[in-house]
Amino acid sequence: MKELPELNVGVVGHIDHGKTTLLSQLTGKFTDTHSEELKRGITIKLGYADMTIYKDGSDYNIKKKGIAQRYVSFIDAPGHEMLMATMLSGAAIIDAALLVVSASEGIKPQTREHFMALQAKGIKNIIIIQNKIDLVSKEQALENYKKIKEFVKGSLSEDATIIPVSAQQKINIDKILEELCKLEIPKRDETSEPIFLVARSFDINKPGTTIEKLKGGVLGGILKKGKLKVGDEIEIKPGLSIKKANQQTYETLTTKILTLHKGSDSVKEVLPGVSISIETELDPFLTKTDSLTGCLASLKNKLPEISHNLKIKSNLFKEVLGTAEHQEVEPLKTKEMLMLSANTTITVGTVEKISGDNLELSLNIPVVALKGDNVGIARNINGHWRLIGFGEILE
Ligand code: GDP
Ligand code: MG
Repeated sequence: MKELPELNVGVVGHIDHGKTTLLSQLTGKFTDTHSEELKRGITIKLGYADMTIYKDGSDYNIKKKGIAQRYVSFIDAPGHEMLMATMLSGAAIIDAALLVVSASEGIKPQTREHFMALQAKGIKNIIIIQNKIDLVSKEQALENYKKIKEFVKGSLSEDATIIPVSAQQKINIDKILEELCKLEIPKRDETSEPIFLVARSFDINKPGTTIEKLKGGVLGGILKKGKLKVGDEIEIKPGLSIKKANQQTYETLTTKILTLHKGSDSVKEVLPGVSISIETELDPFLTKTDSLTGCLASLKNKLPEISHNLKIKSNLFKEVLGTAEHQEVEPLKTKEMLMLSANTTITVGTVEKISGDNLELSLNIPVVALKGDNVGIARNINGHWRLIGFGEILE
């Protein structure tokens, strides 16, 4: 099989603006091609959807008409504000985004917050979906279009394509396929040691499966760099969390890769790019119900030690983004609690030291800190974690 260019696309935007509807219209018809995977229960639990886009003359489709252009895997970000940090962490592994804006409601707090999160991660590949055009008049649609233009002005994505869509009525869905084929594919790093970001983990066995038919623990996520192949010995960190006499400790897991899956295809080797699943030799009991979400995996003995402290260079926004009313971001204080997201890890930390933009934090949940990685910074404001800026791991 010839390798198709691959793209990871996040679907973001305010709640109820139509993200999930759009995703099912874009990809939905071909769930049957994933039947093997559905049986194994991976796709559903992953919350990812993937598709191959074909081009036949000027017709872009997912019906296998014409020549295959691109393999796209989508990550549906939760619209709920309390899950914002999760969305942010997802942003670490996406190349591009569909920003869904309802033409009837316009730019809302989470539209702004998600957009700024993408900007902070340097993701400029954005297609703006002006959804629900069936609900507005032509004048309202134009007015809304102008507002979106104003909103992105001066940002990394000020020239982002805006496509008027009705996800519900399937209007302009093919236009989105065409635009997806135009997005630049980022260059992947295939030569470094592998870094696999664990987004989900499961036990895929049905109750009552006999021992000899039992599948090993499965990890779902994205290979950020390097290569992985069947038979590789891997380590997973921080790994298993163990509570001993009220002390939380972590135990690195080491195991072997039994099978690799990309979409519904079983593959021998994976290159960095889209989401994959790894079946391991681990006891599925250890991987069930997302117990390993947020971990990193690499070849044995290649990951740094986990750390309970983090040094970051911070870059705060002027304004809090996720609130409806205008609110300035107040300076950081020592001893305040922040929520941090790095790769697929979310942790809470206390600010111990501030010098200029540099912060030292002690963490409640340890992380595998990789120098240069991005960190989303959220602060608890009136009971909600709100994105207030981003940072870079110093050491
Ligand atoms: P999400 O929260 O962003 O994932 O939004 P959903 O996809 O769950 O959609 C929220 C509601 O908007 C649902 O009732 C959808 O049926 C409706 N909806 C989505 N797209 C459209 C559209 O293009 N037109 C109309 N009229 N309704 C839509
Ligand atoms: Mg949804």
